[in-house]
Amino acid sequence: MIEMDCTCVQKHHSIPTEVIEVSEHAIEKTAEILKDYHRIFLVADENTYEVAGRRAEERLREAGLLSHSLVLPSPALPNAENIGKVLMEAGRDREVYDINAWSLNPDYILAVGGGSINDTCRMVSYRLGIPYGVLGTAPSMDGYASVVAPLLNGRKKIVYNCSIARHIIIDLSINAQAPYPLLLSGVGDMIGKYIALLDWEISRELNGEYYCEKIAGMVKEATDQCMAAAPALEDRSLEAIRATSEGLILSGECIAFCGSSRPASGTEHMIGQTWEVMDVEEGKVPNLHGIEVGEGVFTAMEIFRRLYGEIEEGTVKNLIEKYLPAFDKIEALQKVLKLPFTVTDRARFVEGVLRGRTFRERYTILQYLYDRGKLEEYAEAVYDTVMEKYFHQTFKEEFPEWEG
Ligand SMILES: [Zn+2]
Ligand SMILES: [Zn+2]
Repeated sequence: MIEMDCTCVQKHHSIPTEVIEVSEHAIEKTAEILKDYHRIFLVADENTYEVAGRRAEERLREAGLLSHSLVLPSPALPNAENIGKVLMEAGRDREVYDINAWSLNPDYILAVGGGSINDTCRMVSYRLGIPYGVLGTAPSMDGYASVVAPLLNGRKKIVYNCSIARHIIIDLSINAQAPYPLLLSGVGDMIGKYIALLDWEISRELNGEYYCEKIAGMVKEATDQCMAAAPALEDRSLEAIRATSEGLILSGECIAFCGSSRPASGTEHMIGQTWEVMDVEEGKVPNLHGIEVGEGVFTAMEIFRRLYGEIEEGTVKNLIEKYLPAFDKIEALQKVLKLPFTVTDRARFVEGVLRGRTFRERYTILQYLYDRGKLEEYAEAVYDTVMEKYFHQTFKEEFPEWEG
């Protein structure tokens, strides 16, 4: 359990995570870290099984802790089909079938992979009441320690409550080998925190929403850490991978401390996730989460800058002003990093902004503009600015092969 006292109304924050191991050969410690469990069910996809699953499986088997493994076909999206597969394969039949007994459940689920496998296992863990942990293979998103998971149900993406990982194991040498788009995805997910924090502060002022100063400060720290490390990711320096992984984990912890993703997900996630959903609706495999969110960040930034130039002095203007230096930093980072964009079509871009407002129940600047009859005008205007200032290249042209 990780806990801290606080000055906010919650007074105390805690999460059930027991171990966070981020080190160069962390995978070798898997059995030692999980020694209190005896029927571990390992879940990976074809790619993550190759890079980490097989080795973890060996270590667990040697220690007598492994129940069995399931390897899903890649890319293994966190959808109802894969969640169903994990659920069906979670238990083992007893040697002699007993009509009065339940199947033999594992006592632990170990997710080996990035966001998709993690989200899939988190849901099954929550539904079956079995603890789970993650052996992360890429610093691609901040969901390792999160409390919720956006899951694909049919052609809809719905945010469900899920279990929090008991153990987070990050092997830096494995993570350093992750495909570059996954590393960029991690950065895209993190730079958005400034937007999320600004939305949160605005809602506190306008709606009296719960706000925690300490958590907001920690998320800001995690974001700064990831942004400072980002330029060195291309060279795959272990220190950059470590800083990024730790920043992402800290951001996830803050979500869990808060009890909602409010500190880490605002306008940028509502827009980015709407674009993901639009892909799903059309039967396509959505792009990486942090890449969609990254484009959402530049969109949200330009919305805020435009609003700043238009509104009268007051609380909202003052709050935006506080974040303008952070926006400048993100803009400068994009010149170096060149995060790829996935949505370049005007109609699609605008639809994402308009529908993004209601992606989930959360007050953001999108609702603020909608209430004043300005959202459509902003979506159209910001499209031009974003394409002109930041558009680098489309994702799939440069990286035709990726796994989520
Ligand atoms: Zn607090
Ligand atoms: Zn995210």
